[in-house]
Amino acid sequence: MTVKQNRGIVLKSRREIELLRAAGALVCGVLDQVGRTVAPGITTAELNTAAEEMIAAAGAIPLFKGVTNPQAKIPFPAALCTSVNDEVVHGIPSDRRLEAGDIVSVDCGVRLSGYCGDSARTFAVGEVSPGARHLMEVTKRALGLAIEEIRPGRMWSEVAGQIQQYVEGEKFSVVRDFVGHGIGREMHEEPKIPNYVDRRNLKSDFRLVEGMTLAIEPMVNMGKPEVNYAGKMRWTVATKDGEYAAHYEHSVAVTADGADILTDGRVPA
Ligand code: MG
Ligand code: MG
Repeated sequence: MTVKQNRGIVLKSRREIELLRAAGALVCGVLDQVGRTVAPGITTAELNTAAEEMIAAAGAIPLFKGVTNPQAKIPFPAALCTSVNDEVVHGIPSDRRLEAGDIVSVDCGVRLSGYCGDSARTFAVGEVSPGARHLMEVTKRALGLAIEEIRPGRMWSEVAGQIQQYVEGEKFSVVRDFVGHGIGREMHEEPKIPNYVDRRNLKSDFRLVEGMTLAIEPMVNMGKPEVNYAGKMRWTVATKDGEYAAHYEHSVAVTADGADILTDGRVPA
């Protein structure tokens, strides 16, 4: 049974959460495959082709392919978003060959048996600079911290404040223009899930409730938080100052006492 909460947030049953976990396990498998194959010389289009084959073989649908956006010149053409170095999110896979020292953020979403999974990781290509390594570690830890802080009854802003405080304490910045989201039968459901706190987003703050399923996705910039569109197709979001960015995402379910990660590779019981 699906219960509608205030603000349009749909709570999920145990059965639905297991269906979300099945989709999430596939996404995890795709990202694991990317992690095994990413290396200097490979193109982001090659990473995408392998991902599309894996998704099709599982009988799933890639969520990003065909998505339209008002500013974009074309529907999104791929199953993966591949965002390199100063690119934050929504990079289009291309013939660009990854080079040692690059970092590439790979985001994957699928729908399997009617339910969605969405997860992202940033990968190092060969040896990367200590600064880039630290950026990746802080972003991954920001996601882990958020998941540890989730519990029913808490306001999301308490968690978002912790993400922001941690990231800014490391002298990095949190992207404002893109946020996480509820996830379920649709990739993007209510609520919007910012990784920072300000007066405006406090107005749409929400209380964490058991049965909520959320895609938590901090995007962290090495320099300033501002981003803009780069590239001819107006999909790719890049840092304005040209500094590197990283992105980690898990889909999670709020449980009676915390959070259950749905995109960590565990399969439904
Ligand atoms: Mg994603
Ligand atoms: Mg997402």
